[in-house]
Amino acid sequence: MKSIDHASLVGEVAPPADVAPGPNRACPLADVDTVFLDLDGCVWFGDRLADGASELVRDLRASGRRVGFVTNTSNRRATQVADKLRRLGVAAVDDDVVTPVEALAAHAWLRARPRVWFFGPPEVREVVAGLTVMADRPEEAELLVLGRDPSLTYADLTDALQVLVRGGRFLALNVDPRLPVDGGRMLPGTGALAAALTYASGVRPEVVGKPSRGFFETVLRHFDAGPERAVMVGDTLDADIVGGAAVGMRTVLVGQGSPSALDPAPVPDHHVTDLRAVRGLILGSP
Ligand SMILES: [Mg+2]
Repeated sequence: MKSIDHASLVGEVAPPADVAPGPNRACPLADVDTVFLDLDGCVWFGDRLADGASELVRDLRASGRRVGFVTNTSNRRATQVADKLRRLGVAAVDDDVVTPVEALAAHAWLRARPRVWFFGPPEVREVVAGLTVMADRPEEAELLVLGRDPSLTYADLTDALQVLVRGGRFLALNVDPRLPVDGGRMLPGTGALAAALTYASGVRPEVVGKPSRGFFETVLRHFDAGPERAVMVGDTLDADIVGGAAVGMRTVLVGQGSPSALDPAPVPDHHVTDLRAVRGLILGSP
């Protein structure tokens, strides 16, 4: 990746690059050169930035490390995610972000350009339409691609179901059960919509985003990073931790962590309360 003056994007002042860790400092992740940060429930909660997020990103970059924002959002493209990061005060460009929408282009099922029925927001529909052929009616589709759009109606679920009951394949941008927003509220996630369709059709979705191996491989390729010197930081055991560990990254769980539905439950390498503690693991205490 080309070098970017991130600080100028949000007018921040970078600290002197004196945070390079030495062997005697108590930072078990000092040797990582790439830090992948989950967004929902980790860097932000709805429209509120997590405590310590902008300082963590600034100091990691000042130490020469790469920071990648790796989100499972199914209703935004990288460019919209980068916009939101800057609006909240975190310097970011489109290239700093990977979402399942970007990973969709690398998915094997899209290579044969199947006729697709898509449910999700218009910005993502545009991307899908650029990758394959959009069916005019659900009955003509060979593949259902599911994202999240709060405008969902019973009629939308009915259309999506027609693809699956006729033998179509099922690709979900993520299967996150819920989405944390500010104030401890939860929104039904794309996985909740996918579960309704699976219950009705018996067809289980293939997942484009976290925790699929393909997604994390796309992420590593995008940032030209090796898993042995990368760490995945996130709030979800069944997406961030299990997926990062599966490709050989180290993992940090932040916050309470929602209970795992997997057996055995994934175990992160480190579990901390907030992003300030993540800074400590990598850079040591300020
Ligand atoms: Mg999250």
